[in-house]
Amino acid sequence: MSRKTAIICDFDGTITNSDNIIAIMKKFAPPQWEKLKDEVLSEEISIREGVGEMFSLLSSSQKQEITNYILKHAAIREGFAEFAAFAKNSDYPLYIVSGGIDFFVEPLLEGLVDPDSIFCNSADFSESAITILWPHECDHLCENDCGCCKPSVVRKLALEDYRKIVIGDSITDLQAAKLADLVIARDLLLQKSKEYNLNYKEFSDFHDVISILKKLEEVTV
Ligand SMILES: [Mg+2]
Ligand SMILES: [Zn+2]
Repeated sequence: MSRKTAIICDFDGTITNSDNIIAIMKKFAPPQWEKLKDEVLSEEISIREGVGEMFSLLSSSQKQEITNYILKHAAIREGFAEFAAFAKNSDYPLYIVSGGIDFFVEPLLEGLVDPDSIFCNSADFSESAITILWPHECDHLCENDCGCCKPSVVRKLALEDYRKIVIGDSITDLQAAKLADLVIARDLLLQKSKEYNLNYKEFSDFHDVISILKKLEEVTV
């Protein structure tokens, strides 16, 4: 009998066409956010530090304005609703593991993904500046100070009996991708999957993902 399949899917730049944290900062943050972004990219500071500090540049009073802006401008990648339905019908558990923040991740996925299957950071608006909370920090096996630690979430889900499929677009997905049986990648994660010799397929929209998964079923049934 073939193994069951579980899917671990990134949010920003994978389910959405572009990165929502970057979009929020471009629109609402004072210019010093760019330095923080550059320091994260060059690994001078951790993702948790950088994202936390970027949001601390924003006022909690902007909560509604920021949320409205993202809900209006974020575009869900072609085929995602069909893909979520396909996963459900196929009995493939679908987990969204995201370095994004609950106030935009959850409403954008409403009606598409079970809220209990979403793992992301959260925002606290009770102080004058926005504070990011980290309910899924690194376990003892990860020292990257990820913020939302994707490999730690994958380990915690205890998917030993499953064929694990990781879908993503960026360097922040790489450590989880290394734990996967198959990586479905675009953009930088695609490049990294090649570089690290991972078992990967390329996608540009979720119709591609559905056909990759269907082919996989045919091979393994
Ligand atoms: Mg991403
Ligand atoms: Zn980590």
